[in-house]
Amino acid sequence: MKLFPWHPPQTPVPPVQAEARCPICDCVKQEILECGRTTFVTGPSRSHAEIQNGRKFHCSACGHIWTSWMSKDLKNVSALYDGIYKETANESVDVNFRSAYQLELLTLALLASGKKKPCLDFGCGPNSSVALMLNKLGMPTQCCDISNYYPYDNEVFFRHSADARWHNRFGGVVSVDVIEHLGDTLNTWLYFNRILKPNGVMYHIFPTTIHYGLDHHYITNAFHLCIFSEQSLRLLCDKTGFEFRGFVPSKIPSKDPTLQQIFHFEKTREV
Ligand SMILES: [Zn+2]
Repeated sequence: MKLFPWHPPQTPVPPVQAEARCPICDCVKQEILECGRTTFVTGPSRSHAEIQNGRKFHCSACGHIWTSWMSKDLKNVSALYDGIYKETANESVDVNFRSAYQLELLTLALLASGKKKPCLDFGCGPNSSVALMLNKLGMPTQCCDISNYYPYDNEVFFRHSADARWHNRFGGVVSVDVIEHLGDTLNTWLYFNRILKPNGVMYHIFPTTIHYGLDHHYITNAFHLCIFSEQSLRLLCDKTGFEFRGFVPSKIPSKDPTLQQIFHFEKTREV
């Protein structure tokens, strides 16, 4: 994979629009954060001027951080990430370090939900083999992603869509390093609610300002579009029918706080 260092915007950043409204609490007051100090942008993505002119907003009321630039059209988002994933789309090379965490989270979700309904690995990236393996072991699991290049079978491994056929289908939803990439966070969490059975569980790993300062590269990274504070995460749970059940310590050794603590949520009502 070829990576290019982040370059500062070549053209002046346009003034903040009045409708820069926090997607979690609707507040219109925010500060602008510097974006992308240590960010790497892949070759094809460099042609997207919206990234280079993008801004990050930090809500003055709930502390949520979001960006101005990411398209909500998943086809466009997919094209951006294909620049990263294209070379790893072949199943023969579909293992990276996240697969160990995906296995850990899926196991937690399957045990918590009693294996009566499948669990979903949301945004599995190139690691569909984790779900395929668990299925062969009698642990019902599915996985999905938005890439254009993966070998979807539309059974175990499907391309993400808001398709009604997945509603009330899953006992659990998990993800590793996906939540921070969401361009339409509220609707994605409403989707999680719809696809989960009552009392379904979620286990996610993602960076937040609970664990990192505003200048940390996980927070400034231009591709990290959605960074929660403790308050904005609780607000989102309230709006989308979930309760935060606390952190589960990961059994995989790491010095990275994001990878040490797994977020555990439970669906508590329909929305
Ligand atoms: Zn807010």
